[in-house]
Amino acid sequence: MQTPAEMLAQPPFRGRLLIDGHWCDAESGATVERRSPAHEQLVAVYAKASIADAEKAVAAARRAFDHGPWARLKGAERATVLRNVADGILARRHELARLETLENGKPLAQSVAEIEGAADLWHYAATLARNLHGDSYNTLGESTLGLVLRDPIGVVGIITPWNFPFLIVSQKLPFALAAGCTAVVKPSEFTSGTTVMLGEILIAAGLPPGVVNILVGEGRVVGEVLVNHADVDMLSFTGSTAIGKQAVAKAAQTLKKVSMELGGKNPQLVFADCDFDAAVDAAVFGIYFNAGQCCNSGSRVLVEASIADRFLAAVVERSRDVKLGDPLVPGTQVGAITTEKQLHTILSHIEGARRDGATIALGGARVDRPGMFIEPTVVSGVTPAMAIAREEVFGPVLSVLTFKTLDEAVELANSTLYGLSAAVWSNDLTTCIAAARRIRAGTIWVNTFLEGHAELPFGGFRQSGIGRELGRQATEDYTESKTLQVHLGKRTDWYVPKRTS
Ligand code: NAD
Repeated sequence: MQTPAEMLAQPPFRGRLLIDGHWCDAESGATVERRSPAHEQLVAVYAKASIADAEKAVAAARRAFDHGPWARLKGAERATVLRNVADGILARRHELARLETLENGKPLAQSVAEIEGAADLWHYAATLARNLHGDSYNTLGESTLGLVLRDPIGVVGIITPWNFPFLIVSQKLPFALAAGCTAVVKPSEFTSGTTVMLGEILIAAGLPPGVVNILVGEGRVVGEVLVNHADVDMLSFTGSTAIGKQAVAKAAQTLKKVSMELGGKNPQLVFADCDFDAAVDAAVFGIYFNAGQCCNSGSRVLVEASIADRFLAAVVERSRDVKLGDPLVPGTQVGAITTEKQLHTILSHIEGARRDGATIALGGARVDRPGMFIEPTVVSGVTPAMAIAREEVFGPVLSVLTFKTLDEAVELANSTLYGLSAAVWSNDLTTCIAAARRIRAGTIWVNTFLEGHAELPFGGFRQSGIGRELGRQATEDYTESKTLQVHLGKRTDWYVPKRTS
């Protein structure tokens, strides 16, 4: 195991574009650099794709889909490749984790866990590759057999954000591949490294050329090609609600299918009869995990008024003990903010909360050290109308609100435009189920928070997204349904010959 100093001493990672099975430089020769947000050190240099490179990548994916072997292989053969990829990921987990941490700023142990979790998704998708099937109707009368086939949808454009780069591409790509699709993948320009490394793993695993193409580049250049292109049949996007809405509007021009995983303002509802310590721990974990840069972040805690003061005091006390610092150092729980833009966005949300009359009960400032770090921050005295109660901050900033009844708690939970996830904390099963049934969100955790399983679908209500990832339907999302009607025996003629007598 390398020390943090040894990990930082390695030369920057060099990444090129993967187009049609070849690693190439950008046609323009342009490059883009990435510095570690925690260490301010150059950690990667990439070929930077232009529109021309993106066009080539789409053409390669199109050819591979229309004429290549991938879509025609047996499910079992595709499953073998996906399992090879999973094994390849695990074999390189420390290399992948190091680069993820250096580019994103998240603690190294967390990166290792995410890479291992991603490998599990590739393994799970391999099981689905063999189980993808359609339907049949033997009930249409003696002369008709009805079959519903699942055809791969075609070329999928995959656009991912910077907060969980490797995990999120692994929530999409293996399922698209399991269905027989080909893809062009555009990771966030801030955290492209592990997706580029994935390209190396895919080739080593035996994926035919052109099936997956990887482009490092800007969203408004390369991303827009994928959104607009008529040869891209489906867009699978994870990112902000604002960019997601624009992408849906543009994708409508070609009527391509869209799958959107967008923002959240997720509430944890804490009832007075809950396991108090467990709920406090989940409130702290839920907001500081990944420095709050998490679509599922529990950024609103709604606490029953009778325990609110005690709960707030306990959350503030535990927040003081959270270990913030160098993400390469073992034991660090909260690392850096990934981008400078995000750093300023978070600070301006805190400033806005102050202006609106909320109380900064803890933190609220940039940490005075090299790199981009924000103090664990707790905001109390928050009212539902304040921006800090409604807008996604995407940082280590917890808003605390109170309620008196279950009805009020549910109304508060449902009072934003988002609906990604929520948690309910109570030792009364009736309270848990009643609240869970009424909260409009794609995932509801009961007496736990931020757990994930490949078997369970994930996605949002309302402006948190369109569609679901994971679960046993995940591959079906990357298919079109095709109806086959087979007539058996002689068909009754429609044409009735004229009488000639
Ligand atoms: P973002 O929307 O800025 O960028 C996401 C991706 O879109 C990046 O690859 C970016 O380059 C690309 N992009 C930017 N402009 C584009 C354009 N005009 N056309 C096409 N692509 C474009 O998001 P971000 O800041 O990278 O990530 C944070 C956001 O992602 C948060 O809002 C978070 O909630 C959301 N997110 C959602 C989920 C989920 O599963 N629901 C998971 C992770 C992150």
